[in-house]
Amino acid sequence: MTPVIEVAYPPRCPECGLRGCWVCADCLAATPLFAEPRCPICSLPLTHDTCACDELPNRIDRLWVAGPYDGWLRRAIYQFKFSGETARGPHLASMLVPGCAGLDDDVVIVPVPLHRTRQRSRGYDQVAIIASELSELAGRPLTSCLVKTRETQAQVGLGAAERSLNLWDAFAVEPGIGAPPKVLLVDDVLTTGATMTECARALRREGTSWVGAVAIAHGL
Ligand SMILES: [Zn+2]
Ligand SMILES: [Zn+2]
Repeated sequence: MTPVIEVAYPPRCPECGLRGCWVCADCLAATPLFAEPRCPICSLPLTHDTCACDELPNRIDRLWVAGPYDGWLRRAIYQFKFSGETARGPHLASMLVPGCAGLDDDVVIVPVPLHRTRQRSRGYDQVAIIASELSELAGRPLTSCLVKTRETQAQVGLGAAERSLNLWDAFAVEPGIGAPPKVLLVDDVLTTGATMTECARALRREGTSWVGAVAIAHGL
């Protein structure tokens, strides 16, 4: 049986509206995903002369981002996040599968959490949906062990230092669940990496020794 949600939201290109696909060939060509092959640590395409391995967000051991926060990808995330287009989740999650390549077998997927109030007002947690789809697609276990302990100001318009301060101690490992030794954090949009760093700090405080991170889009 087709889930009701797919009936309500048939596939269509978020940029030009073409039906029958989650992104059309033209819009994908206009804003392509980051090229492969990539550096396995910082995910920068190996066609670049330089690496960004020494610019990883603090406390993050490995970072992988699927594409730029631009064009169809930006619209896809927006519609998924704010327009209730949750049927787009599996497509977005599928773009993160290459980011799981080469990870140790015991790496556990952990979604970056929303604050409960935010989730209630939106009705769903978009990152939790993507993380759970990714867990199935990549055949890796998932634990939602992180919680956001307080509401924070939107990060938009804040500088890097302000972002870190805004998020300071905003995440914690859920009491009674515990933190896995190796974690792959999942988020939708990565900007300065301050959110990933704070999540990693909370995990490492509870004994996690390795933290990788994947995100769908990189917004600069
Ligand atoms: Zn299109
Ligand atoms: Zn690198």
